[in-house]
Amino acid sequence: MAVQQVTPTICPSCHTQFNAPIQSLIDGQNQHVKMAFLQGRINIAQCPQCRNISSIQTSILYYDLEKELALVYVPGGLNVAIEAQEKAIGDLTNTLFNQLEPKKRKLYILNPKQFLKLETMFDTILEADGITKEIRQTQEDRLKLLQDLATIKTPSELKTKAEEHKEELDRTFFEVLTNMAQVANVEGNPQLAQHLITIRPLLAEISGIDSTVIDDVDAKLGLIILKDKPDLLKRLREARNEQMFVELIATGHAMLDYEFFQDITKQIDGATDQGNHKQAAELKELRTKILETKSVIEEENKKAFEAASDLLQKIFQSSNPQQVLSENLDKINQPFFSLLSAQAQQAQQQNQPEAAQAMEVVMHMAMSMLQERAAQEAQQSASETTTPEPPPAKKPTPKIHIAGA
Ligand SMILES: [Zn+2]
Repeated sequence: MAVQQVTPTICPSCHTQFNAPIQSLIDGQNQHVKMAFLQGRINIAQCPQCRNISSIQTSILYYDLEKELALVYVPGGLNVAIEAQEKAIGDLTNTLFNQLEPKKRKLYILNPKQFLKLETMFDTILEADGITKEIRQTQEDRLKLLQDLATIKTPSELKTKAEEHKEELDRTFFEVLTNMAQVANVEGNPQLAQHLITIRPLLAEISGIDSTVIDDVDAKLGLIILKDKPDLLKRLREARNEQMFVELIATGHAMLDYEFFQDITKQIDGATDQGNHKQAAELKELRTKILETKSVIEEENKKAFEAASDLLQKIFQSSNPQQVLSENLDKINQPFFSLLSAQAQQAQQQNQPEAAQAMEVVMHMAMSMLQERAAQEAQQSASETTTPEPPPAKKPTPKIHIAGA
């Protein structure tokens, strides 16, 4: 029952006037819409001229018939004449009232609680979900601590700070840290991703948390983190199944160099010398399998990058990149993001900030479309009692892998 209207808007950057779609009735029972609203992904528009993305100030009526919530926000707050506020609110409540089936028309809808700030409206919505201010405060504190730790330069300072906050370094902390690394990697900041993964073992040691907890976090997020070449070899030997084997090869691809294979050869020779022919044969078989898998993956990568490159070209040549993206959501994968972030970096280095910015816009558009799709899928598969995700804490991200140096 989402009502989409159009409003004339002026781009704050280049002052072009254009019509932007707005949504002023937000149905809190629609998890997809609710999440987009809480994450600030509703009522934003891209200027057709300069591609600048800005948020559109508009009145909003949020309602949840199950929780009997009717909340209203009029932008401009106390600067807007009371009559104008009342008219804006009246228009919204009447529209909603008339849309609803008669038996759903309740009086509270006509008397919504008014908010001067969207943030306080978000607080109220989340509190109705049982996500209290205290929980959100804890989430914010955790994020702040994580950001502090991530920006510390020296290991000794890091150690001191981590010792001070030892109690806070719990499982959730490591989940958020790992998730942040994952997001950073996808969003084109591999340095931050690598840094977070590098400080993680030290933090885990200080926290005294069991190392299986970290492995568990990685498994849950679909992450494979390889320490070094011997670690890769060890895991290949222990791989539980074919899929795991292929994923390990894909993740550790850069480690599969001359030195890696030389090391296997040494182990084969060692086993042969000791008369352990069974082990030597197993290692030989493993070496062949690694080489074969590696070449299959290389061929697949090549194809994936060609497809990503074609798609990017299509997007940048189109007058409606959003539509091209939405028609090709299935082709938005890690090669797509890798190529896009590599090209954005290149544009930055070649002093083409507009091109770099355009690529970032495409990256964010693609990310948010994937998130929306994930939310839709979750909504379809989950029962009606799903609790919504709190706004910035966790984003569904495509599965990625991080390999150590
Ligand atoms: Zn503009």
